[in-house]
Order: sequence, then structure tokens, then C-alpha cells
Amino acid sequence: MIRVLIMLLVFGFTVYGHAQNIPAPKGCGYDHYVHQLNQQHPGFKANADQVFSSAAKRPALEKDLEIYTIPVVVHMVWKNEEENLSTDLVKDVIDVLNEDYRRKNLDADSVRDDFLDVVGDPFIEFELAEVVRVETTAEYELDLLAGSLPDNVKKTAEGGSDAWDTEKYLNIWVCNIKGGSLLGYAYPPADLSHWPEGANAPTPEVDGVVIHYEVFRRSGTHTATGLLGSGETTVPVRGRTITHEVGHYLGLRHIWGDGLLSILGIADCDADDGVSDTPQQGVSSQFQCDPAQNTCEDGEGDKLDMFENFMDYATETCLNSFTVEQIAIMRSVLENERSGLLGQTVSNTIAIEESADFRVYPNPASGQLFIESSLETNSDYQVRLVDMQGRLVTAPAMGRPANRQEIDIAGLPSGLYGLMILQGGDQYFQKIIVR
Ligand SMILES: [Zn+2]
Repeated sequence: MIRVLIMLLVFGFTVYGHAQNIPAPKGCGYDHYVHQLNQQHPGFKANADQVFSSAAKRPALEKDLEIYTIPVVVHMVWKNEEENLSTDLVKDVIDVLNEDYRRKNLDADSVRDDFLDVVGDPFIEFELAEVVRVETTAEYELDLLAGSLPDNVKKTAEGGSDAWDTEKYLNIWVCNIKGGSLLGYAYPPADLSHWPEGANAPTPEVDGVVIHYEVFRRSGTHTATGLLGSGETTVPVRGRTITHEVGHYLGLRHIWGDGLLSILGIADCDADDGVSDTPQQGVSSQFQCDPAQNTCEDGEGDKLDMFENFMDYATETCLNSFTVEQIAIMRSVLENERSGLLGQTVSNTIAIEESADFRVYPNPASGQLFIESSLETNSDYQVRLVDMQGRLVTAPAMGRPANRQEIDIAGLPSGLYGLMILQGGDQYFQKIIVR
């Protein structure tokens, strides 16, 4: 149980609480567990105290950096049609990520002058590899009292959708999270010094981001039912929940440092986020953007709370920036703990036109793959299965007639592949998902 509680504390998920007579959602769900956690896990405080010194060792950010591109698989796990978001909408959300992680978001200029010298361009981009759609009858629910997260959405056997190789892909599961208040959550990588031990995913298969379908969009509103009280609150959506959760996935903590007292909405100025160029901030911005909020006055050079920071809980219309040191942490994670995400080229494999001249099924597939083709199978006819780098995986000898051929794919790692049919000078191509 302790482990579960620790996880709830640390992975950083976005939750609405609701306090009576306060119109905006307040606080954050896992804060509820901090007090219990500190009693059961005394090492937490010491771990948090070490954060500041470890952050100071991060490398400085240079001006022009290599662009790191992260391949993304979106799992659309749906029960009602409205939860089955269109591929165009998914692409638009990927665009939001590409704007926010390249500082190309139109509201980047809205950052207050006080923070102009610390914000920057992460030079991180995202490329959609696939949208996997799974219709389900399962429910996905946060149960805070039981201490359980809806990781069942990540398991085909439990009505969800199995991850693609989590070392190579950022997996994002989009679903209707029940329980009233959870907008999304993500696990950080293992063994980061500014996170408590055990914050990472319990198993590699569940690593990634889960997000509520209503906030997985560039523009809209979301109505949340209070977590601990009654009542509903409607807040604007600007696609920033995914930006925030990917920040956790790349190693960032909440800007206010998840302090013990912040559960109660009281500034905890001893807590720190492990980032020295964010202001000392004792509590979240609580889904508002108060230009006067300054929860921790820390002497000369004191700065106001930074509601512009993607790792705060401000109103989404106010979030617009990462700081240079936050960027250094994320890039360090991509160079080390999550280096498997880099170096793949999704788009190269999708360059050839897909064909209506043959049909490949099932897709996604596991075990066997079948081809039905109207192409004449003369002596030039060849079939090749290639991986994302364009490397040959298998070139099965095809018997005739070709109207129904079988390819053995048992044992292939999950992921995106390309099935090519070559005939004479013609090439035909079909994307294949292997589970
Ligand atoms: Zn968070």
C-alpha cells in the first residue's frame, strides 16, 4: 500500500479539487496523499531537500540546439462515439505539442517581463506514428481511496490498448476517465534525483501518459465534478494538459514542488521543484492567473509566482512557457533515461502512397498477417516487411495464387511496420501495426 501511496504522490497528475464557495477548482488530488505519505515514508522530505543541489548540476542551455523528435502513438480507447476523437483532432493536438515545445505558441509573448530572461525553446518535436483505436466496455476510474490509477486502459486484456514499445514511443492513452476530477497523469523516468524513489512507472508496459478525452483538444471547455466536495466547475481548455503531462514524462515536477502544506492550499516554501530558474512558489496557481500572487518571498531578486509555467496549475489560457533549466532537464532525460525515443524516422516509412490494390488484415495484427491482392502475381512479384528505419524484417516467398497469402509475424516486437509489394517497376505500400 505504501508503494501505491508513494506513486500517487509523485507522478504528478492533474486533478481538480473543489472547496465550497470557491468558484475555481482548488488544489490537486495527489496533494491529499502527501500528509499520509510523509508519515509513512519519512525519506520523502530529505529527498525533496536534495533537489536544489542536483538541479544546479544540469548543463546550461545553448542557443541553437539539435531538434529532438519523439514518435507518438495515441491510443483512442472509447465507449461512446464522442470519445472516439478524429485523427484530424489528434493531429491538431500534436501541433499544440509542437508549438509549445518549440516556443511557437502564439501566446508565448504573453509571458511577463520578469520571466523573459529565463524562458526558452526546448527544441523538442513530436511526430504522430499511429492512432490505435479500441472500442471498449471497460471503465477507467481514479480511485483515490483505494490508491489506484486507471492503468487498465493500457492493457488489451483488460479492455484497454497495449502499449507500443515504451522505450521507443511516447504512448498516450485518451479515454473517459471517471471519478470526476482526474484530467491526466504521467510517470517520470526512473531514478531522477529530484523525484522520490518509486515515482516511475511500476512496469515498463504502463509507461506513458493518460489523458481525459475532453481536454485532449486545442480549444474547448471542461466541466469537472469536485473531488472531495460537491459541485461542478467549468474551465477553459487550450490543449495544455498534454503539454503539462509530457513535461512530467520528461522529468519535470510541479513548479510549486508538491510540498506537504500545499495540500491544504497553504504555501510550502521549503518544497522545491529541482529547478533553480523557476521562482520559489509554495502552492499552485489553483486554476487562476493572479498577477499579484507571490506565495514565497525569498529575499533579493524575489519573483512573483509564475502562472505562465506549463508545470503550474494555472488557467490553461495563461500557460505559455518552460524555463531554460526545465528545458535542460527534459533534454537530459531524452539523452539518457529516454534515449530510445530518439533516432527514429516515422515519416520516411509513410512516404510511399498506400494502395487500394491489396488488402492486409488484421491490422493491428499479431501472429499472422494475411494479404489479399488483385495484383497479378508474375515472377516479379515480391513482398517485403520493413521496420521504421526501412530495414528489411522479412521477405516471405509468396506462393500462388496470391489472392490470400499468409505472413508469419509471431515474435516481432510491437510497433509500426511497412508492408511493401513490388511488382515490375511498381511499389505498393501499407502501414502495419504489430501488437
Ligand atoms: Zn501535474
